[in-house]
Amino acid sequence: MHNPDIIVAGAGIGGLALALCLAQQGFDILVLEKSRAPAEAGAGIQIGPNAFHILNQLGLKQELHKSAQFPDRIGIYDADSGATLAQSPLNPLIERRHQAPYAVIHRAELHKILHDRAQDCEHINIKHSSSLSKFVDDGHNVIVQTQDRENFTARILIGADGLWSTVRDLVIGDGPPRYTGQVAWRAVVRKDQVEKRFAAPETGLWLGERAHLVHYPVSNGQLLNIVAVTAASDPPRGWSSPGQADNLLVCFENWHPSVSTLLEQVSEWRTWALYDRDPAPEWGVGRITLLGDAAHPMLPFLAQGGAMAIEDAWILTAFVKDHLDEPRSSLRAYEHLRIKRTARVSLAARENATMFHLSGYKRLLRNMALKASLTSPGLLLRKYDWLYGYKALEERLPVSDQAPF
Ligand SMILES: Cc1cc2nc3c(=O)[nH]c(=O)nc-3n(C[C@H](O)[C@H](O)[C@H](O)COP(=O)(O)OP(=O)(O)OC[C@H]3O[C@@H](n4cnc5c(N)ncnc54)[C@H](O)[C@@H]3O)c2cc1C
Repeated sequence: MHNPDIIVAGAGIGGLALALCLAQQGFDILVLEKSRAPAEAGAGIQIGPNAFHILNQLGLKQELHKSAQFPDRIGIYDADSGATLAQSPLNPLIERRHQAPYAVIHRAELHKILHDRAQDCEHINIKHSSSLSKFVDDGHNVIVQTQDRENFTARILIGADGLWSTVRDLVIGDGPPRYTGQVAWRAVVRKDQVEKRFAAPETGLWLGERAHLVHYPVSNGQLLNIVAVTAASDPPRGWSSPGQADNLLVCFENWHPSVSTLLEQVSEWRTWALYDRDPAPEWGVGRITLLGDAAHPMLPFLAQGGAMAIEDAWILTAFVKDHLDEPRSSLRAYEHLRIKRTARVSLAARENATMFHLSGYKRLLRNMALKASLTSPGLLLRKYDWLYGYKALEERLPVSDQAPF
């Protein structure tokens, strides 16, 4: 077997999107994935138009339209009274505004769409049960070793190996990510089990003190995805560990009865401790760089971590496509551009973390401001033009970075 052009560590949403973008340019890709089989959390994911554009370019529109939902609106509600604080039209307005829709989809379905397409592609080889453990950049190639002591050689190595990235540890070595003091509880319930107000085709956001709740339909509208975020001084052990419903229900006991009743319908909760990092000044060295959560783990309060990984994938491909033999300048240019963009998104997500959980008079002021936006439908969407209107497809490698390294 000849050497691949590029090795991607990690077959999550970011790694698979990257493999598909690179394969579209004719590169041969080896994806090393440590898990034994494809696996994604039993929960939903929102895909803003900024990322949906790219999935369209990968020819995935049809498959996505089969499983994704396209909510009509975003509704923001007060946790105590259940009153509407703000509402914004979503689809199809957002598609008219940014030429791509706002989708919500079950993660396992999105992952399967990407994984199936990658497996069908002659340029992509996905190796499961293959955990990258170390690598050497000899100036011409990167030689990667897995935990089973298999060696692979390629021109470039991309660490798309998630929050606890081994590649990041070996390249930047800036320590573990920061626990943010918040835990996300995730679950899905059958839509026919829930109150009518939750069956609407909307993304709902409920704001309480030190907690919030998000819900939206997935799986062809058969299931309702629920994410409840609470404060916790210590992170739960493990990743996606089972959550004790009693511990969650106590945080929501004074909420509007619709919410407490909804939460009682859930039979199985999984918990995620939420981590992020301050934006890093660099992501790579030589022929190695990072992508997705490995590069820029962020709080999920703008629903953009996965979308940023997809944007990274497109831009990284656009920058290296004519520079495989000497990719170092292009990789640094990719980092430069993406560090700026992802830092802005990550910091905006942190601001939401504060804004969503306000108490006392600050909460009242926030609610008044949100209610004022009710008189101007579309205002909330306009506020996020910088986010959803970003066109990764238009980014080009700056001319100064095209010279040999
Ligand atoms: C509660 C919550 C809600 C969210 N909601 C949204 C949302 O609505 N919209 C959105 O865009 N984002 C959302 N996100 C963020 C999104 O889930 C992540 O940003 C995204 O999944 C990151 O993808 P990734 O491919 O970079 O990393 P991962 O999905 O973590 O994939 C990394 C892969 O690398 C593999 N791996 C790890 N180490 C190695 C190794 N040494 N060798 C080989 N393989 C390895 C892992 O097994 C894994 O398969 C949310 C996150 C959370 C926690």
